[in-house]
Amino acid sequence: MIVNITNTIAILKKYDIKPKKKYGQNFLIDGNVLRRIITLSKVSEKDGIIEIGPGIGALTEALAEAAYRVLAYEIDEKFITVLNNELIKYKNLRIIEKDFLKANICEDISLWLEGCKRLVAISNLPYYITTPIIFKLLEEGKLINEFYLMVQKEVGTRLTATPGSKEYGALSVFMEYKATSEILFEVSKNCFYPKPEVESVVIAIKRKQPPIVVKSENDFLFFIRKIFSQKRKTLMNNIYGCYSINKEQIQSTLNKLNLRLDIRSENLDLQEIRDIYVNLFESPNQ
Ligand code: SAM
Repeated sequence: MIVNITNTIAILKKYDIKPKKKYGQNFLIDGNVLRRIITLSKVSEKDGIIEIGPGIGALTEALAEAAYRVLAYEIDEKFITVLNNELIKYKNLRIIEKDFLKANICEDISLWLEGCKRLVAISNLPYYITTPIIFKLLEEGKLINEFYLMVQKEVGTRLTATPGSKEYGALSVFMEYKATSEILFEVSKNCFYPKPEVESVVIAIKRKQPPIVVKSENDFLFFIRKIFSQKRKTLMNNIYGCYSINKEQIQSTLNKLNLRLDIRSENLDLQEIRDIYVNLFESPNQ
């Protein structure tokens, strides 16, 4: 088993690798955390797993043991040799040397994971690109319905935040629109080598049908980003600053929806945001 401090240091030494901060290289060294991820994600021998950033293979090894097939994307070429040597016995493992953000997920799935009963993304994410990875999985990985991801605690809190809390923002609303998400458990800094500066959590994200309907999803998602762009401003001022709409029009929309004129975006739920958007941009008299 790779997942412990002695083996991790030995592998890094053997291949003369120094962990790179710029790629978020903090390796999991705690077997209990790893087992909890495998148990809670209910990986079975019929599943196909997508892993982003296998590193030296601690999680990959456990996934290859438990799943039917594993597809892992690693950006750092130094780890490709490590993985090919250390995990050589796993014939169900396919490693792709690539920046995950540039990968064609659908093509790779059809080449390697076809026939799997369930597709699940499981990863100890490189934290510097957490949000783009989650959005890519949601947008392009249409066949992947569940994600179990290790993320920075602060990001996990924002992803799962509800209206009115200080962490609630565009990211929380995006998630509410596309998926259900929950924090499964917290993970201490001591479970990684090298020790990161931040605490971590494992989150579960499950894709869902958007609970509301809009004509242009792209425009709606853009609107969500814009109304949270300056958190200290009121909703009205955020809209006014980003679109060529006059204040009277915004006021009349808020009045019509029985919302206070000085309301801030952080106090609006997804349905209210949708109603404001539709009234401003999709109503017949637009
Ligand atoms: N899975 C290993 C573990 O749990 O010990 C390593 C996790 S480490 C937090 C993140 C990994 O993601 C590193 O191996 C890093 O090189 C890789 N990585 C960083 N950016 C990436 C990208 N854009 N695409 C694919 N892998 C990336």
